[in-house]
Amino acid sequence: MDFELTPEQMQLQEAVYKWASRELGPLLEKVDEQDWLPPEMFRQLGELGALGVAIDPAYGGLGLDVLAEVLVAEQLGRVSPALGLSAGAHSNLCAGNIQRNASEALKAKYLPPLVSGEKVGALALTEPGAGSDAMAITTRAQHQGDHYLLNGTKMFITNGPIADIVLVYAKTAPERGPQGISAFIVEKGFPGFSAGRKLKKAGMRGSPTGELRFEDCPVPAANLVGLENQGVAVMTRGLDIERIVCAAGCLGLSQAAIDLSLKYAREREQFGRPIGDFQMIQAKLAQMYALYEAARSLTYRAAMLAEGAKRGGKGTELTRLAAAAVLFAAEAASHIAGEAVQIHGGYGYCLEFPVQRLWRDAKLFEIGAGTTEIRKLIIARELLRKGSL
Ligand SMILES: Cc1cc2nc3c(=O)[nH]c(=O)nc-3n(C[C@H](O)[C@H](O)[C@H](O)COP(=O)(O)OP(=O)(O)OC[C@H]3O[C@@H](n4cnc5c(N)ncnc54)[C@H](O)[C@@H]3O)c2cc1C
Repeated sequence: MDFELTPEQMQLQEAVYKWASRELGPLLEKVDEQDWLPPEMFRQLGELGALGVAIDPAYGGLGLDVLAEVLVAEQLGRVSPALGLSAGAHSNLCAGNIQRNASEALKAKYLPPLVSGEKVGALALTEPGAGSDAMAITTRAQHQGDHYLLNGTKMFITNGPIADIVLVYAKTAPERGPQGISAFIVEKGFPGFSAGRKLKKAGMRGSPTGELRFEDCPVPAANLVGLENQGVAVMTRGLDIERIVCAAGCLGLSQAAIDLSLKYAREREQFGRPIGDFQMIQAKLAQMYALYEAARSLTYRAAMLAEGAKRGGKGTELTRLAAAAVLFAAEAASHIAGEAVQIHGGYGYCLEFPVQRLWRDAKLFEIGAGTTEIRKLIIARELLRKGSL
């Protein structure tokens, strides 16, 4: 087992971090205060290649592996977890699922503008009354000749307020429960499709989250992704990878919180010496570091297993490991960011210091893309199904 990154992987890491620090770093206060996403971000990320890391070169992507996706998400999250979240919803949730599940014609039409950042992508599953219980969605898609008519409301959709291309889940046969769900690509501008209110969030500000409405919205039958009533297969095919990439965002956030804490612990003096001299501060730093490294090893291993699984590897082991990676990395990020605030004392609680932003951002990782509780249910289900490790 090789734990060293290759020179190419390190180059990718460095390129993304350098770009994000230079272009996004100076904007972070505005992003947070005004809940503002820099309008050029998607195009710039597209030029960098960061929106199509795992997308086939035939559609403009880099065609790299899951670990490369992880490295990119980690470095974006290190500079801005919120903007990294938006980039991830675009490239991982939207483009990634289109690549895995859509017809050649749909891939040729929708992937190039997503990869270049010309168009913004989103994935819409959650509804006001259906979060963890995703199978309970009520958005309806009725087949009428050459199109489906969509009606319903989606909730908490990352990039929803600005999205041009949305992968939407709807019920095509409500009486069949989970076997009656289908996936569609909906474009901004389709009649009856509109973005509802933008939500005001405690953290991840800058990543626009909102409601989407479908009122007698006709979607061409050709925009069905996968087969009719097979939407759950579309949903689950990429879930492991989605969880691993989400864990990568937690790693970036954790690294940023630790770096800020180390700097502060060396600079801030109390009782005539740097607070880093005090053993209780040292214990916090050591614990933060150990959690971070454990989360990183788990996430990278899951990424390597996911790459193997793409080529026919071990499904169940991957599912439980991917869920464990995001469960652990998210809880670690929350703990690390909380300790970073504590190390900064009163200043850490003030808006001028960035650790409080990381603390607010971190909480989302325990809720979005499946909650901590649901991740535990998945791990336990996989363990019990097999009966042994
Ligand atoms: C900022 C943000 C961005 C998001 N982006 C997207 C997106 O791009 N696309 C999208 O489709 N969705 C998105 N979501 C939605 C997200 O996936 C849901 O919020 C999440 O799945 C939880 O659903 P819920 O909020 O309705 O909570 P609920 O499901 O109502 O859960 C409430 C509480 O009950 C617990 N709970 C529920 N069921 C069980 C159970 N069986 N056992 C034990 N505990 C349980 C939960 O863990 C939680 O603690 C986003 C959410 C946020 C906040």
